[in-house]
Amino acid sequence: MDFVSLNPDTKVLPGAVNMGLVSTSEGLVAIDTGLDKQSAKRIIRVSESLGKPLAAVINTHAHADHFGGNRALLARYPQARVFAPVDEAAVIRQPMFEPQYLWQGALPFSSLKNKFLLAEASRVDVEFKPGSTLTIGGTDFGAIPLPGHAHGQCGILVNDVLFAADSYFGASIIDKHGIPYMVDYRETLQSAKAAKLVSAAWWVPGHGNATEDPQTDILHLCARHEGAFEEVVRYASGEKGVTLDEVTGWMCRKFNLTPSNPGAWLLVRTTVAAYVSAAIEDHDIETGVIDGVLKVYATISAPVDSTGTDKQV
Ligand SMILES: [Zn+2]
Repeated sequence: MDFVSLNPDTKVLPGAVNMGLVSTSEGLVAIDTGLDKQSAKRIIRVSESLGKPLAAVINTHAHADHFGGNRALLARYPQARVFAPVDEAAVIRQPMFEPQYLWQGALPFSSLKNKFLLAEASRVDVEFKPGSTLTIGGTDFGAIPLPGHAHGQCGILVNDVLFAADSYFGASIIDKHGIPYMVDYRETLQSAKAAKLVSAAWWVPGHGNATEDPQTDILHLCARHEGAFEEVVRYASGEKGVTLDEVTGWMCRKFNLTPSNPGAWLLVRTTVAAYVSAAIEDHDIETGVIDGVLKVYATISAPVDSTGTDKQV
């Protein structure tokens, strides 16, 4: 199946990563470009069958599987402009940042430089702010702020269709991945709920099926993250303190996650780090260096004396 029409001007190219294709008076606008040359070829094939050029690409966030097709598309349509959220543009221009940040900023070793973590670089012509509206060929594209899965992620609302990026996932995708990737726990929950409240006729997640009612998928995602967060706090509150890597191992066993290579494991660790950050900000747990090891442990509340007055410590 090459594409599904949600309305006369708005199509979805369904796949491992969904892509959108919107007709405007200036030409077609692609919303995300998939992983690589192959996904770009799908957009080119549909554009040619519609007899319209590609006028623009809008990237929702800077993960390799959402902008990896940019380069090949721009080779075919060099006039097309590339739009990206202001806080995501840097990684699209300099994709090595992605394996670098997963490896704590250090030089990524070779196996981290696979196409799922390192896309081909692309220019970005227009950086847009969350909440702004882009008008391309007379059509308005609303940039809906949906941070959490990526710090600067935006959904795109056009022709009554919300391309929701990775603000939520289809239920079967959630079950397959166990705990979907994210970088900010609180914002992930807020954005999933915000995506549900957007006034639209259709919702298209980055991964999963287009739907007229995303409620079930979104509640499933929130419940999964809330359960995982509680588990992290419980485990990290152990008496002796534990390392982030130990919490990650615990979560892999608890949720039957089977990351098969270092890159996949580092994605889980980032998500676990996001839960840990939220728990530290909530004052549920603390972090400190003990005997040369960075550990997290339960926050010890200030001692209370027998009169009930807090002692100064
Ligand atoms: Zn993503």
